[in-house]
Amino acid sequence: MFVLVPDYVKRHTVSAKSSCIANLKQIEGAKATWGLENHKSSTDEASATDLFGPTLYMHDVPVCEQGGTYTIGKVLEPARCSIPHHSLELGHVYVLDESRQPLVGATVFVQGAISNGGKAFTTEATTETNGLGYVSYYADGATGFAAFKMGYTTSSVPLTTTWPAKIVLRKLPP
Ligand SMILES: [Zn+2]
Repeated sequence: MFVLVPDYVKRHTVSAKSSCIANLKQIEGAKATWGLENHKSSTDEASATDLFGPTLYMHDVPVCEQGGTYTIGKVLEPARCSIPHHSLELGHVYVLDESRQPLVGATVFVQGAISNGGKAFTTEATTETNGLGYVSYYADGATGFAAFKMGYTTSSVPLTTTWPAKIVLRKLPP
């Protein structure tokens, strides 16, 4: 199905999303500084009252323009917004093998992508040592992600709202 979205709606959504992601980055920074100054471990969880306030790490309580709520999380976890596409891991695709180990050098691509309103977009990436590839999931026409690697089956997943996306590749019999 092809859905026409008026340009101004798209622009608004994109700017609300990027302002939310800017908030998430600030929360990340505040949480990291809080962790260092208070000798917290990576599994300690910060709360709003630890981070937000005139004398704390962020002056104002951050607000998502689209009404999402924030989960600050543990020191080593990314902060999250309840709106799925408002994610610091947006466009991140992990490629794993059957034992859930990261696959290096796999090709990840966006299926069905045709354009991004004339702007640059990345529909193909090669996974790094952590199995991570970064693609522009939002390109018009995108329907899902696929990944392949020599010696493995090709596999695909539909467009996700839960980031990062994960694709598992099975080893082909020799
Ligand atoms: Zn948000």
